[in-house]
Amino acid sequence: ASKFVKLSKDHVKRFVALLSPQQVYATKEYGGSCDIQDLAHYNTDFYKSNIGSSSVVLFPKNTAQVSNILAFCNQQKIAVVPQGGNTGVVGASTVLFDEVIISMSKFNKIRSIDLDSGALICDAGCVLQDLDHYVSQFGLIMPLDLGAKGSCHIGGNISTNAGGIRYLRYGSLHGSVLGLEVVLPDGQILNNLSTLRKDSTGYDLKQIFIGAEGTLGIVTGVSIQTAQRPMHTNVAILGFNSFDDARGTLALAKTHLSEILSAFEFWDDISMNITLDHFKFKNPLSDPYAFYALIETGGSNNTHDQEKIIAFLEHSMDKGFVKDGTLARDKTQATEAIRKFGVLHGYDISIPTSKFYDIVNDVRKRLEDAKVFTNATNGQITANKVDVIVGYGHIGDGNIHLNLMLKTIDSKVIQLLEPYIYEWVSTVSGSISAEHGLGLVKKDYLKYSKSPEIIQLMKKIKKIYDPNEIMNPYKFLPN
Ligand code: FAD
Repeated sequence: ASKFVKLSKDHVKRFVALLSPQQVYATKEYGGSCDIQDLAHYNTDFYKSNIGSSSVVLFPKNTAQVSNILAFCNQQKIAVVPQGGNTGVVGASTVLFDEVIISMSKFNKIRSIDLDSGALICDAGCVLQDLDHYVSQFGLIMPLDLGAKGSCHIGGNISTNAGGIRYLRYGSLHGSVLGLEVVLPDGQILNNLSTLRKDSTGYDLKQIFIGAEGTLGIVTGVSIQTAQRPMHTNVAILGFNSFDDARGTLALAKTHLSEILSAFEFWDDISMNITLDHFKFKNPLSDPYAFYALIETGGSNNTHDQEKIIAFLEHSMDKGFVKDGTLARDKTQATEAIRKFGVLHGYDISIPTSKFYDIVNDVRKRLEDAKVFTNATNGQITANKVDVIVGYGHIGDGNIHLNLMLKTIDSKVIQLLEPYIYEWVSTVSGSISAEHGLGLVKKDYLKYSKSPEIIQLMKKIKKIYDPNEIMNPYKFLPN
């Protein structure tokens, strides 16, 4: 039997009383006026890989409302799923049974900005791109950027410990988040919206909520350190004949571009070809290469920046690493392009840079040996086969996305991939989830990145914060 209460019309009536009729979407079965299709946006994730089944979505607009809802749900033992922009890719914001979705999308005001320090305080439901646009008027930049920036919320970013393409320069959210306001499952409000960069007064509790995927409470307010927006940005695409040449170029970029280097993104030829084909782009380089990288710099003096870029390119070409280079477009489009083949099955892993492409080659060989790899990049997807394998990612941060395209998720193929890939990652002391989190999809593989003692302690922490386990159940921690 479930430890949660079955949702009823009376519960929904109470939600309406705690919020307002406009802030509660419920299906007719629960006394609302929606059909289940009306809630599809909240039940279906960005890539339509995880489809949920919630009949009730709540839209709090302030911290007190979040507190009232959670206190009621906790007292009644109603399971809830916090939801940001619903762009996560591991099924973390998907509903499995009749959990109530708490959408933060109407809780989205900027609270303050300190122009001396660059500390921004805002509601958790602010969209990342809107925040970046807002701070740009003050010559500031958000310390993270990712392909889903037009939809994802800062609260979702924090709850997944998102990485993205500015990580190389501005580091992890564990460093740039200055403070959080969080509502605990019993309704208690933890207000720690500090704007201080330095504070050595005891346990740093905000850290536990960064990457907690809504399992410990709901983040309602965020204080984050913005950075100075570079006055000049330059972007180049480079072509390489081998992975080692790309790796050598990364080392040279760190040396010669040092403080102005803001991104070093990498992708292979198959990612490039299907992206060009999908978007009807021309290859920006005159010849095709086995590997490509996008380099972004941001600095305060373009003459100096360009001198550095030229010196870096000369060194890379002298060493024989870089074969060709030009101005560029965005690698994140690869993901969108490969989806045209069918179902995207992805792995987001951290491994030592020296092994970065070995895993792609090993997995490809394993599938070829098992005769389930077609390498058909022409869109002719085949049942029970893997059609495309691509590797791309944030090489500057040791994070590769290994993506496979299948017609449907085929259990025989998955058995060839899992736990093989996780064991591979564990052997090199890597992470089975570099930046996407655990959610539903990765929770059972946590043991490949964390010891039994750590997993036990994580379970104890969950019990302390959420004794009734109402927060985002069935995910994140293995049973
Ligand atoms: P959601 O998907 O809504 O939720 C994610 C998790 O956070 C869930 O567990 C949810 O319960 C919880 N949550 C959301 N809001 C709150 C809150 N206020 N309080 C408590 N818990 C909450 N990720 C990267 O790290 N780097 C990338 O480069 C990157 N690129 C992407 C590109 C594309 C095209 C797409 C679709 C996704 C990408 N992602 C990337 C994954 C995703 O965008 C991020 O994980 C993002 O941080 C999720 O934010 P969200 O608001 O959509 O959260």
